[in-house]
Amino acid sequence: MKSDAPFLPPDPQIEAKVRSLGERLFGLMDAHPTPGILSKKGAYARIMEWSMKDPAFKAQLFRFVDVLPSLDSSSEIVRHLREYLGDKAVELSPAMKTGLMAASFAPAMVAGPVKANVTSMAGQFVAGATPADLVKRFRSNAASGIATTIDLLGETVVSELEADAFLKRNLDVLDTVGKAAAQSGAPCFSDQGPKGPLPRLNLSMKVSALTPEVLPTNPERSIAALKERLRPILRKAREIGAFVNFDMESYALKNLTLALFRSILSEDEFREGPAVGIALQAYLRDCEEDLRGLLAWARKAKRPIVVRLVKGAYWDFETTLAGQRGWPVPVWSEKPESDANYEKLTVLLLENADIVSPAFASHNVRSCAHAIARAERLGVDPRAYEFQALYGMADELKAALIATGHRVREYCPVGDLLPGMAYLVRRLLENTSNEGFLRAKDVGGASREVLLRNPVDLLAALPPAPPAPPAPAFRNAPNTDFNLEENRARMRDALAKVAGGLGRRHPIVIAGRKISDREMVASVNPARTSQVVGHWARATVADADLAVASARAAWPAWAAKPASERADILDRAASLMEARRFELNALEVYEAAKPWIEADGDISEAIDFCRFYACEMRELGRVRVTQATPGERDVHLWTARGVGVAIAPWNFPLAILCGLTVAPLVAGNCVVMKPAEQTTVIAAALMDILAEAGVPPGVLNFVPGMGEDVGAHLVAHPGIDFVAFTGSRQVGCRIWETAGRTLPGQANLKKVVCEMGGKNALIIDNDADLDEAIPAALYSAFGFSGQKCSALSRLVVLDGVHDHFVKRFVEACASIPVGDPAEPGTVVGPVIDAEARDKILGMIEAGKKESKLAFQSTLPAGLAEAGTYVPPTVFTGVSPSDRIAREEVFGPVVAILRAKDLDEAFRIAMDVEYALTGGLFSRSPSALERAQNEYRVGNLYLNRGVTGAIVERHPFGGFGMSGGGTKAGGKGYLENFLFPRVVAENVMRRGFTPPPDDAGKPA
Ligand SMILES: Cc1cc2nc3c(=O)[nH]c(=O)nc-3n(C[C@H](O)[C@H](O)[C@H](O)COP(=O)(O)OP(=O)(O)OC[C@H]3O[C@@H](n4cnc5c(N)ncnc54)[C@H](O)[C@@H]3O)c2cc1C
Repeated sequence: MKSDAPFLPPDPQIEAKVRSLGERLFGLMDAHPTPGILSKKGAYARIMEWSMKDPAFKAQLFRFVDVLPSLDSSSEIVRHLREYLGDKAVELSPAMKTGLMAASFAPAMVAGPVKANVTSMAGQFVAGATPADLVKRFRSNAASGIATTIDLLGETVVSELEADAFLKRNLDVLDTVGKAAAQSGAPCFSDQGPKGPLPRLNLSMKVSALTPEVLPTNPERSIAALKERLRPILRKAREIGAFVNFDMESYALKNLTLALFRSILSEDEFREGPAVGIALQAYLRDCEEDLRGLLAWARKAKRPIVVRLVKGAYWDFETTLAGQRGWPVPVWSEKPESDANYEKLTVLLLENADIVSPAFASHNVRSCAHAIARAERLGVDPRAYEFQALYGMADELKAALIATGHRVREYCPVGDLLPGMAYLVRRLLENTSNEGFLRAKDVGGASREVLLRNPVDLLAALPPAPPAPPAPAFRNAPNTDFNLEENRARMRDALAKVAGGLGRRHPIVIAGRKISDREMVASVNPARTSQVVGHWARATVADADLAVASARAAWPAWAAKPASERADILDRAASLMEARRFELNALEVYEAAKPWIEADGDISEAIDFCRFYACEMRELGRVRVTQATPGERDVHLWTARGVGVAIAPWNFPLAILCGLTVAPLVAGNCVVMKPAEQTTVIAAALMDILAEAGVPPGVLNFVPGMGEDVGAHLVAHPGIDFVAFTGSRQVGCRIWETAGRTLPGQANLKKVVCEMGGKNALIIDNDADLDEAIPAALYSAFGFSGQKCSALSRLVVLDGVHDHFVKRFVEACASIPVGDPAEPGTVVGPVIDAEARDKILGMIEAGKKESKLAFQSTLPAGLAEAGTYVPPTVFTGVSPSDRIAREEVFGPVVAILRAKDLDEAFRIAMDVEYALTGGLFSRSPSALERAQNEYRVGNLYLNRGVTGAIVERHPFGGFGMSGGGTKAGGKGYLENFLFPRVVAENVMRRGFTPPPDDAGKPA
């Protein structure tokens, strides 16, 4: 696809120079042949060749490589090999055939060589496991004139202890390699800059491994935590004259890393040293802006820095994630765009070589030749910049660059195989990428001329973009990206503005009339119970009767409206919510104590419900021919049920109430809305929005009140045709029963749409990726204080991994931010009210008697007095028969159970009365398939958290004592509020038959 991005205009002189330099580099590379990574012989070469030919095989193979280090027995290795690669493993290595056949008797015969092969594959990219290996490499590099930068493998840390361990490893390596560097004679060629020797000890660091607390809503807090561990490293580096580079990771961490870099280096202690650098990724659309910002900062601070210019290693991840979240894709979409941006930023760096030392990290000969050509044009001393390349890759390019008088630094990862896998898989992806330079050069047969072409010309030659496919009728509203400061600022402003307007009075609304002369009930902020969010008029039973009568009166006209008109009203409501998103977010923070991200997700879901049900109704509103029959017109259509009541809980105060209300409304019913007592102020905002969007008076009536009087009365009312309910099992079962009784004067059998609780379990298989499973489990259990019906309350952990998992999980619990949800970064706030708190604390006491209290956080000072908080709590050694393993808790409490194998794990997981959500973390394809077939819950999540259902993508709802099996936000949901009708018309007149039609008469 053509690009209109403003890159450098082609410059014939530079092009000529790039070609001659490129030819020279290629010539030298031919003269120093080292087997290219893709031209190596043996199993590795075969594997790579296959991967490039067959994307499905590549995916399976890389998944196998990913799981391998976690497999601790030969039989497990053989099982996974079979599951991932099946017969392909045999084709890959004919020797494998005999092995696999004999594997049931002697699995080690296969497992040993397989592990050895993958270890040797990793060994091609990882310089060793110990500092001693590193020192060896450091010396051999120096002997070839190549400088070194060290990267200690390890990316995800889930606890402070793990972050401490990473810090210690960094300090140790500075010590060990520092000593070795000091003892090794004169600096090598690449360790000498224009003004003399450069720091020989050069450390590259991924900052995410320095804290478990990376919080998009509160980067300031993350930065403070990161600085605690960075300071000792920087101090040590300054003391021994080492250099520290901040590597760049995923886009979500980019602004944080840049802010951290500037902020810590502005501290008095580090204003002058150590020498530092940072990586920037040219594949990002906003890289130029970041680079300009960084240059301006360096000038102002008079701080020389190194900028390592890379293209970026997470392209697939960023593209997928943005697609999933509906966020703008941060990377260029065409490979030559990344290349062209790289060249543009190369020039910007060289133009500022007085304050920045450029480090061009690329294996692409064109990118390197271009940098040299531009440096020559600008008169930049070749010693003032360097090239960088990865260990195990592009060795001949390193040699060629050295031979042309350029400094080269090799990036040497060291560490164990397990943390090294993420790195290894990134390298494998890079080497086999269709678009990559190395592949084009080593196996793609591309000519030098093609390899040296200007990316801007390549862009111009791209075919025009194909026409965009038609947009889907429904699209999920994206959540707010709180990684962006502008969004955080909007949220802070909204919190301040909404706080200033709290305390208003909210009336009952019946047939458009506002009724305020009733008892007023105060709604308070659970985080600060002294703060009144608003007062609401408490409806009486007589008000409920009036609301039902008004709804019945309004019904005929509303039901007669075309479905599309009703759908348009929902779309308008969605747009109003979108426009007021931050205000609604803030209101949820105060009234429901939702942390920022949770509140924002709730608003998105409410918007989605409106838009999704609007789309669905437009479809259902069409008359459908049931069967094309000669002479007869047979059609199916839908008709509204009548008048219903929507009774909603407080935990998704906008979304669930909105869904329960707008689904029946758009289907042509009238509704009496009875919100939860705890979150009536948010409900009043919804009522205002729906009225403003055009729902006529009487069609929707707002009757806030108490469940036990008004709610119960409405459910039993003969004028009610259906009940749309979400809430506790106790109330749900009572509603089900009451609705089953038919009263005199009642027009219909009452339909009950009923969603209740859960006792959701997540199974952790022996081969699970714990770096993924632990954060997912933490968030599922403790996000919004565990007050979601989908929340995780049982962890069923397989024996082989149980103790290790429990240790890491419990350590990780200590880092969960507990506090006031108005504070950005809070994950666990208070529970909804004192009654809920006391009930949960009661269950915790019961748990203490039955099993072992493995963790309970200490609440920060003052919280318990201010609001209704419950500390996150974990029990271990729980038996499936314990109360804590069977009863719903609805709070931040998780029970860990041990299972000897998957059979037992599934049994335990399903041995409860509920069947709402469930999950499994496993890297065994057969285990995942079993879960899909055997693990009976309404919403099953594999290798991800068990909360966060998204409209249309994950229609939500369970069975058993979790509900009636209806799926909110899914196809078919609206049918709960409709009666199906069929019309058969004889259209034959004296043998004359009109042609059959598929479009019906209007419904
Ligand atoms: C010493 C060193 C340090 C590094 N440090 C980091 C780091 O801190 N952070 C980091 O992210 N990476 C880092 N990298 C990795 C670097 O980003 C990769 O090496 C890079 O992916 C390969 O770039 P290249 O110029 O060698 O190869 P090329 O093959 O010329 O370019 C590959 C690049 O093109 C991009 N690309 C592929 N397809 C498309 C497309 N359709 N649209 C747009 N772009 C596309 C790829 O994502 C990749 O970035 C480092 C690399 C080196 C050598």
